[in-house]
Amino acid sequence: MKRDTKLVTLGRPSERHQGPVNVPVYRASTILFPTLDAFEATRDPNYPGLRYGRFGTPSSHAFEETVAGLEGAEKAVALPSGKAAICAALLSHLKAGDHVLITDSAYGPTRRFAEGPLRNFGVETTFYDPYIGDGIAELLRPNTRIVYVESPGSLTFEVQDIPAIAKAAHRGGAVVIADNTWATPLYCRPLELGADLVLHAATKYMVGHSDAVLGVIAGNGEAIQRARAGAQAFAYSAGPDDCFLGLRGLRTLSVRLPRHQASGLELARWLAARPEVARVLHPGLPGNPEHALWRRDFTGASGLFSIVLKPVPRAAVAAMLDGLELFGMGASWGGFESLILLQHPQTMRTATVWSDPGPVLRLHAGLEDPSDLIADLEAGLVRLAAKAKA
Ligand SMILES: *Cc1c(COP(=O)(O)O)cnc(C)c1O
Repeated sequence: MKRDTKLVTLGRPSERHQGPVNVPVYRASTILFPTLDAFEATRDPNYPGLRYGRFGTPSSHAFEETVAGLEGAEKAVALPSGKAAICAALLSHLKAGDHVLITDSAYGPTRRFAEGPLRNFGVETTFYDPYIGDGIAELLRPNTRIVYVESPGSLTFEVQDIPAIAKAAHRGGAVVIADNTWATPLYCRPLELGADLVLHAATKYMVGHSDAVLGVIAGNGEAIQRARAGAQAFAYSAGPDDCFLGLRGLRTLSVRLPRHQASGLELARWLAARPEVARVLHPGLPGNPEHALWRRDFTGASGLFSIVLKPVPRAAVAAMLDGLELFGMGASWGGFESLILLQHPQTMRTATVWSDPGPVLRLHAGLEDPSDLIADLEAGLVRLAAKAKA
């Protein structure tokens, strides 16, 4: 089955001729059993049926089955947020005394989880240059348990050489975990590039409508078994309504994502030609340093990218952002609507130096008409320039 067909077919009810198109929302805590034997059978850790709401429902199972199929994974596990997916993937593979390597370009809360709770539990983290490639071998220690990649970095869009990193990590006995939220399984499949676990903030493009928070981890063999057992042990359980929304979002991903890609590239090209803009951080733009690697490992780009403005006072940035009519200001992305946020990458680096002097703006190209989005940005840049001169 091709990927678009999987998006439509996986995780559907098996009772084709009696049931609805979608798996309904199963709101359940207690599951009832008709006999003592039936109840006691659930004590088997491999019991395939429903046991208790926290262990999953047909709603979470359908979402997990679909994501696993899309990522080319044996299994997946749904979690209550993308951050929960990150925490469960890391914690389920770590113990006190272990060492972790995390890309310097990682999502901020991933970094803070390593610098806070992981350190308090006796796990040491080294952040590394996202462009390190097989140079990662030099940072591996006998106790390095995990190499964590996020490609491209969701603030600054460095594309990582996952195959080279994974090969070196595996030689050193480490597990490779990839945050694939930006690309979705439609545009990148990290397990095929050598990662052992892939995770998503399903909150973003999978849910796709800015109305639920959800996470998922997929993988094969021991890596996903550990992650699933970890999710259970930490009592991470994804709500059935959110799993339903995640699955409903996935059904249309193959028509939404190409539009996000096209609009994102159109905005990126337009911005690259503007005098207020120093550079555009979008792996899909030819001429950008990561373009060749992106073409090798990805089949598309989503609608999220950043720009670096030429240096201007903060008040000029505020004049631009405060007056935008179509770009909302707020966390998250991947919904149908356009967003813009001022970022501070220089405050989130320890292995590398962010040396661009100008402000960094991260944009999400939504599904509006791109010419309206460009008009909104143009008016904003005019306000920015006027304020910078004043
Ligand atoms: C948003 C995000 C997360 C966290 O997802 P939540 O559902 O908000 O917890 C993880 N990774 C990346 C790259 C993200 O953008």
